[in-house]
Amino acid sequence: MAIELLLKGGTVVTEGGVVQADVGIDREKIVALTAPGETIPAKRVVDIGGLHLLPGLIDMHSHHREPGYTHKEDLITATACCAAGGVTVTVGMPNVSPSPTTAEILRDMFALYDQKAIVDYNVNPAGTVLEEIPRMAAMGILAYKVFMVVDTGRSYPHMPGIGVHDHGKLLAIFQEVQKTGLPIMIHPHDQALMDQIEQGYWAEGKRDFRAYAQAYAAHDGVIWDVAVGVLLRLQQAADVRLHLLHLQTVGCVEMLRAAKAQGRPVSAEVNPWALWLGNDWSNIERLGSYALSYYVAPHHSEAIWKALLDGTADIIATDHAPHLKEEKEPGWTDGWKAHTGTPSAQRYLSLLLTDVSAGRISLERAVEIVSLQPAKLFGLYPRKGAIRVGADADLVAVDLDREHVITNEEVLSKCGWTPYAGRKVRGVPVHTLVRGQFVFENGSVVGRPGYGRLASPVNAKSHERK
Ligand SMILES: [Zn+2]
Repeated sequence: MAIELLLKGGTVVTEGGVVQADVGIDREKIVALTAPGETIPAKRVVDIGGLHLLPGLIDMHSHHREPGYTHKEDLITATACCAAGGVTVTVGMPNVSPSPTTAEILRDMFALYDQKAIVDYNVNPAGTVLEEIPRMAAMGILAYKVFMVVDTGRSYPHMPGIGVHDHGKLLAIFQEVQKTGLPIMIHPHDQALMDQIEQGYWAEGKRDFRAYAQAYAAHDGVIWDVAVGVLLRLQQAADVRLHLLHLQTVGCVEMLRAAKAQGRPVSAEVNPWALWLGNDWSNIERLGSYALSYYVAPHHSEAIWKALLDGTADIIATDHAPHLKEEKEPGWTDGWKAHTGTPSAQRYLSLLLTDVSAGRISLERAVEIVSLQPAKLFGLYPRKGAIRVGADADLVAVDLDREHVITNEEVLSKCGWTPYAGRKVRGVPVHTLVRGQFVFENGSVVGRPGYGRLASPVNAKSHERK
């Protein structure tokens, strides 16, 4: 009996190391990993000689903008970026409208993804309504998300209903989430500190993008450090699985390292902007609000790199956050008027592979932080996250030697720009497969909207969506 597809001649990054192997695929799964020369009958054979085959990327943090903000991005453009970027599972965030704070709203969101997603998906709903927390767990989610941001001055990006700063309420949420066994992701923030700091800048007439960047990073990252200190202490009180978003200071890295040394169930993500964009002030001078996300001073960025290499930081997730140019332009004179965030899903693999090429990180560790560890932390392993027999055939074939200059024209996101334009990368995705089907082939998105499927934890009690 011939299998459906054989990927022949590639170099395969497996959990056990990098090997020459052919990969056999049948009915969505990897069914064979065979040494070169061994023949295995297949209906279709694709030669990937010269390419490296990696497990598809799992992006746990992406702002897809639908429903509610489809002028910025929609699920088709967002998941087209994913296909082109080697991302085979993308997980949306709750700052959409209506925000998924209840099982009903989440069900409607899943229905939208079901119609439109090109790659597999899930959504991290807001865990802000206590009685909805167990109901949403039963729907096959991977994690909850809460913003500590309660900035009442802006309706976007942190709208009411999904932000909680009150420590008592956070503790109650943690205790409820703990019963589900799922992790809770938190965007660390302290609005009282931010208010105090920004008033100081404004009193001096400083409101531009520089002031905004510096205010968030003031006092060597006090806003982030205070918030993470609170979160880690509440984590200990509730014994909940805590996943910290936006790791970006030396202080946060040290607190995380200490908590891990105590064996506590804590983890953290690093975002592309902390590694390749906001860590260089000249990018902020050149691009203004288009480079913000956040400013990460070089000594902080160094600490984050170290944390990624030594395992203190667990994963890279994109924080992909497209906005229109009209929403960024006001930042030149008023940084507080620009929407915060940068698009990155389409090219973060290339940015990471460029560092692999430069010897900064090994290919094996790079694959761990973008594929294997997200799968393990969020319950998708061993069905996803690794190239092994029996796993879903979620794969990305990359040319590690191909150089490419990133352009705004290639951007598939609806926003139509990237802060990485003009940058030369080394290492580009050539093909992406989701459950054995090409969604990106020879540099073109060929996936069909609606092909993507809900990626639920392997041990979920119920994958049902009523
Ligand atoms: Zn985000």
